[in-house]
Amino acid sequence: MERAYIGLGSNLAEPLQQLRGALAALASLPQSRLFASSSFYASDPLGPADQPRYVNAVAALDTDLAPLALLDALQAIELQQGRERKAERWGPRTLDLDILLFGQRCLNEPRLTVPHYHMHARPFVLYPLAELAPGLHLPDGRTLDELLAACPFQGLERL
Ligand code: ATP
Ligand code: MG
Ligand code: MG
Repeated sequence: MERAYIGLGSNLAEPLQQLRGALAALASLPQSRLFASSSFYASDPLGPADQPRYVNAVAALDTDLAPLALLDALQAIELQQGRERKAERWGPRTLDLDILLFGQRCLNEPRLTVPHYHMHARPFVLYPLAELAPGLHLPDGRTLDELLAACPFQGLERL
């Protein structure tokens, strides 16, 4: 099995419940085991500011699914929980599930870039990830500690 780290986010329709529902769905994925999940954090939205704050968390999932099969499964969970794809980027959503890391792989496919292209700049990703994997090394040589040092705990509140 490989350990994937998944970023969870919601700012619509009871975000705490959305995240709890998503964790339950991750725990029942085939060929996979939910290893751990972080605390929940409230965070300021990226992009359009006229939307509710988010609730975020990170999960560690051990899986035998291939990366694209995992992405398919995550997108199915998003849809089950009422995610609507809108033209506006980073608009409000019931649930966002992003693959942050997949073992030590670097992937550049049309549907999947891993490590997640923007994780280094997102406190709502890095701080929960640090709860689960302190001292983590990314496959491209960066360390989580370096990324944290360059990413202030700002706009973030541990719930
Ligand atoms: P951001 O990617 O900046 O966090 P977003 O999560 O709101 O924005 P989505 O609308 O959820 O973006 O996804 C857009 C597309 O991103 C998806 O259809 C998916 O194919 C692609 N994608 C590329 N890399 C990843 C990844 N690591 N995890 C999830 N989706 C990814
Ligand atoms: Mg996202
Ligand atoms: Mg996404």
